[in-house]
Order: sequence, then structure tokens, then C-alpha cells
Amino acid sequence: MIYLGCHLTSAKGYENMAKEAISIKADTLQFFTRNPRGGRAKEIDPQDVGRFLALAGEHGFGRIVAHAPYTLNPCSKEEKTREFAYMTMADDLARMEYTPGNYYNFHPGSHVGQGTEAGIELISRLLNDIIKEEQTTTVLLETMAGKGSEIGGSFEELAAIIDRVNLKEKLGVCLDTCHVHDAGYDIAADPDGVLAEFDRVIGLSYLKAIHINDSKNPLGAHKDRHEVIGAGHLGRDAFARLLTHPLLDGLPFILETPQPDLAGYGAEIKMLRELIK
Ligand code: FE
Ligand code: FE
Ligand code: ZN
Repeated sequence: MIYLGCHLTSAKGYENMAKEAISIKADTLQFFTRNPRGGRAKEIDPQDVGRFLALAGEHGFGRIVAHAPYTLNPCSKEEKTREFAYMTMADDLARMEYTPGNYYNFHPGSHVGQGTEAGIELISRLLNDIIKEEQTTTVLLETMAGKGSEIGGSFEELAAIIDRVNLKEKLGVCLDTCHVHDAGYDIAADPDGVLAEFDRVIGLSYLKAIHINDSKNPLGAHKDRHEVIGAGHLGRDAFARLLTHPLLDGLPFILETPQPDLAGYGAEIKMLRELIK
């Protein structure tokens, strides 16, 4: 079995997210820890989180995914930006302990001209400074489309980051289907081949979550424009194969498709559940 959910707004708190997820028959979810462009996070209300945990337990939720703001760039050229990444991630991980044992996903970052090697070094340094032995959260590196100077457009780059981090058991990877397709991995036509490559380079034990998005662009376009499932270059069949793939059993699958509202996600989840019935 797999867990299926979508990105939800955290603006109205944790309990509200659980209720929204349940209302569209989702059994996992993703949310931004704060405004996606950065800024301060809302104060955690332990009672709100308590009600969330009770609902998630009752409804058999899988692990949930918190997503770091897009502006977080651990390998920026600017020290101020790297400092923001450090402060934000440290604060987010402290807050994540209110919902223990879940995932914190971030974009590895853009090296903006410093070169891939320098970027990988800065990212792994940040992770070594931040990740603590006692944390229960697993930090996920997201696979990227390889747009501009983005790090993480190849499995090798993610493996190189993981290789330099000491507490590897606190690390994982979130595979975004739109991103890997845009990066040139043919996840639609050859899921077995791409997963074998992932296993060879990174190790499948690191694969903890899937972002399921179709793509507006052809294979290898390095663009990163998400499309609703079935309307893009990956196509419905590709998602039927992935959602039922034995190597992906038990993982949370999160939609980040351009739906206008919660009802749109509800319809998409219903379609996917029917597709794999
Ligand atoms: Fe992302
Ligand atoms: Fe994603
Ligand atoms: Zn994306």
C-alpha cells in the first residue's frame, strides 16, 4: 500500500490540515513550514498539534512532509543568505519535533556560479551543523530539474552530499517525478531503469517520499513546470505504474500539481485511487 496526499496550506493550523486531508480521502499531506518565500513561522500551538496527531492516528495517516521555503539556499554565494538557511532550517527542525518521526524536505540550492563542487560542500556543511543525533525528523533532499545552477539535478550530486554528512541515518531523498523527468531521467517510460539507477548511485533505502507531478515540458527540458496528472508529458499510465511499483511500497506520494483548490486535489486523488484499484 501507499499513502496519497497533496500540498495543503498550513495557515489555519495543523488540525485544519488533517481535516482538509480527510475530507479529500488523503492519508498523508505536505505543508510549508512558513511562507514559501521565507519569513517568520507561526507560533506552534501544542493543543492544535495534539488534535492533529489524534486525527492522523485515527485515520491511519502515513508520514507527513514539511517543505522548507523556496528561498532557503544553503549554498548561496551570500553569507547572509546561507545564514538565513541555517536559522530557518534549525528553527523548522525544532518545530518538527512537535510531530515526531516525519520528513522535512528542502531544495539543495543553487550554487550561483561558485560551481557544483563548492555548492555540494556548502550544503553538506550546513547539514552537518544542523542535524542532531536526538532529532526524530528525517531531512529529505529533493531531486531537482537541474534548472540554472541548481544542485540535485543528478543522482550523483545528491549522493555526493549524503556522502559528506555524518548522521546519514537522518537523511533521505524525496523524488519529484516532474523534476527527474525534466532532469532527463525517463521515469515515465522506464521507471525500473530509473529506480535501478537511483539504487546504484544513492541507494533505495534513502528514498523516503515521492512528489507526484506531471510535467509541462519534454524529457530533459530542465524547466520545472508542474502539470496536473495526465495532462503533461509523463501521462496517466506512468503514475499508475509508479503508484503500484513494489519498490515504492509504503511511501507517501504527494501531489504538487497546479490545482485551483482543495476540491481539485480531491478529484485528482479520487482519479488516482481508481486508476490503481
Ligand atoms: Fe519542492
Ligand atoms: Fe517537488
Ligand atoms: Zn517543482
